Amino acid sequence: KIFADLGLAEWAVKTCKELGMPGPTPVQAHCIPKILDGRDVIGIAQTGSGKTAAFALPILHRLAQDPFGVFALVMTPNRELAYQLHDQFRALGSCLNLRSTVVVGGMDMMNQAKSLMTRPHVVITTPGRIKVLLEEDPDIPPVFSKTKFLVLDEADRLLDVGFEKELAVVFQHLPKSRQNLLFSATVTDELQRLLERSPNKAYFYEA
Ligand code: AMP
Repeated sequence: KIFADLGLAEWAVKTCKELGMPGPTPVQAHCIPKILDGRDVIGIAQTGSGKTAAFALPILHRLAQDPFGVFALVMTPNRELAYQLHDQFRALGSCLNLRSTVVVGGMDMMNQAKSLMTRPHVVITTPGRIKVLLEEDPDIPPVFSKTKFLVLDEADRLLDVGFEKELAVVFQHLPKSRQNLLFSATVTDELQRLLERSPNKAYFYEA
């Protein structure tokens, strides 16, 4: 497979080439067309498999088509991962006027609220901080009312380490008609339960 076969726009294919990605990894080859098709996708793949680009590229593709209507919320277990995701989104979306922001603990919450009020296309966050902002600042919930993509990165860890309360608050503020993209190194019971609720899902398991 080559990137041009996956349904991505030409600018995206060109960006991959410029970033030194010779061709899609298995998780990218399987998941990108399904995400572009509007399906919920569960990708089971290790870190280093290229899973970030597997969700970032189709999200950026859709965003380029509709910069006023496509918004993504990306959740990940910790700050370091959040900044890594942010860097990859920025690199892959370098030829777009992408507005993205990182909302994590340990940073000034007032500035984060201000940044969210500009309605970034992509918000990358850890569960704790976004929960507090949603609950304590009445201006924040409307920011997420048009979320088209919810990404749970390292979903096994998100669901495992006691983030249930935080995730429940976040889910409650997202529109039902969103696309859910879950990426995880393993399938846990929690993950299985969450997946069973999605009627439109596609799986990818890396052997
Ligand atoms: P990830 O699994 O998302 O943490 O990605 C691991 C690393 O692989 C990142 O540094 C990416 O830049 C790189 N990468 C992602 N996709 C590809 C690809 N198709 N070809 C070569 N490298 C890639």
